[in-house]
Amino acid sequence: MAASYTSALAESLAPDVLARFLRYVRIDTQSRRDRTSSPSTPGQLELGRLLAAELEEAGLDDVQLDENGYVRGTLAANGSNGDGAVIGLIAHMDTSPDAPGHGVEPLVHRSYEGGVIELPRAGTVLDPASMPELTDKVGHDIVTGSGDTLLGADDKAGVAEIMAGVAHLARHPELPRPTLRVAFTPDEEIGEGATLFDVERFGARCAYTLDGSDLGELQDETFSAVEAILIIYGVEVHPGQATGKLVNALRLAAQIVAALPSATLTPETTAEREGFIHPYELTGTPAKAEVRFILRDFDDDLLARHVELLERTAKQITAAEPRARLELTTRDQYRNMRRVLSEVPDVANAAEAAIRAEGIEPIRRPIRGGTDGSRLSEMGLPTPNIFTGGHEYHSVREWASVQDMASAAAVVVRLAEVWSRNGDG
Ligand SMILES: [Zn+2]
Repeated sequence: MAASYTSALAESLAPDVLARFLRYVRIDTQSRRDRTSSPSTPGQLELGRLLAAELEEAGLDDVQLDENGYVRGTLAANGSNGDGAVIGLIAHMDTSPDAPGHGVEPLVHRSYEGGVIELPRAGTVLDPASMPELTDKVGHDIVTGSGDTLLGADDKAGVAEIMAGVAHLARHPELPRPTLRVAFTPDEEIGEGATLFDVERFGARCAYTLDGSDLGELQDETFSAVEAILIIYGVEVHPGQATGKLVNALRLAAQIVAALPSATLTPETTAEREGFIHPYELTGTPAKAEVRFILRDFDDDLLARHVELLERTAKQITAAEPRARLELTTRDQYRNMRRVLSEVPDVANAAEAAIRAEGIEPIRRPIRGGTDGSRLSEMGLPTPNIFTGGHEYHSVREWASVQDMASAAAVVVRLAEVWSRNGDG
């Protein structure tokens, strides 16, 4: 049994969304941490060039791939709203460095019948027992990778949905729309998507990222985020002559990690609005060890306390060994967007209206992560996040529903309609 679409519009958009999506995911756009240029990897430029060409083909104006790898295009307003609000649509082109991203071979499982989906490589399975969202998608067409790579629905689903939505609007001048400004960003997954985003030149009153997950999600609240890098210097001595001399930095690093809370304040033991301290990389030798952490909370004061706890713990452990030296650097990554968005409630309300117009009940839930919109909101461009239909991001089990991707593309079209009524109000 085939699943029905949320509207005739979504059904009509589905083939285009899927064709674009399958095209985009085959290009390796994995970003790389500690970048030395923007974008961090050349594959992102390859996708950028393709998207710029497709935007031109669709009839957008001012299409540009800039020197930092950002793609932009404009679809001018029609009808009576020529002087109204300019609205942005944003998705990111890169994929996560946390799972293999080269050689993605997407598979479309038509009319999913329920049960386990076995992928051809690496013994990877999608088991609804551990993926409750999959249970809701019986009858849907499910797109996966082949088992040994991520899929790249994060965020090529968003890219494909925006492309299909604006191409549809360009083909249908009878549909009302404000001026729409499209941007595809590089390096979101390494926290740099907004870094070189020229908000002033973009010139939009507000924007929407399509970078969420399940059908109906609308996110106007994200974590606030800090990255911490801890470096411990020990004293390296040949183990044969080490008695009373060697100070092992690696051992101290391990003690610090072990001394942090593990039954609370970790990503694996927290949910909803609880924050965490998460060590994600440990490297080193007896001479020098480095531990990288991300710290997250919805509340900025609590986040500051997590940073203090990390600092206190690291100092206590290294204080026991006076010949060791400790360096801790912290960096603000992004702030909870709620502070900005609560001052312009019409922005999220318009997205809610568009989702409802597509026949979907909006789900407003805070996102345990960040988006380009977290920093863009801080930079003066209020940017909530809309669902894409993708799941299990940053893993070889990543999947997306064609029906839900089509619904997201339809929401783009509905959003244009809502803003053409809102005018510049
Ligand atoms: Zn994403």
